[in-house]
Amino acid sequence: MMKKATAKKSLIYTVDLTKIDGDGAFPCPKCGVIISPDDETEEIYQIIDTRTKNNELIELVLLCKKCGSKIKLVGFIPQPES
Ligand SMILES: [Zn+2]
Repeated sequence: MMKKATAKKSLIYTVDLTKIDGDGAFPCPKCGVIISPDDETEEIYQIIDTRTKNNELIELVLLCKKCGSKIKLVGFIPQPES
């Protein structure tokens, strides 16, 4: 068994939110733990990066705390301006 010595470039999974049904929860592409956007406890995942454009969220990078994968969320639906 090889132990990964250096994580030079960790693989980032991409999840397209437009392809997710329901409330936006999705399983981690690697370990399958359910990541729910309503979960703000940071026990299962942690937001490590956000990208905005014109003050709108376009990209979110999460870290799955269970397996350590980085998951990039794309496909945010622009919120109508109020
Ligand atoms: Zn995971």
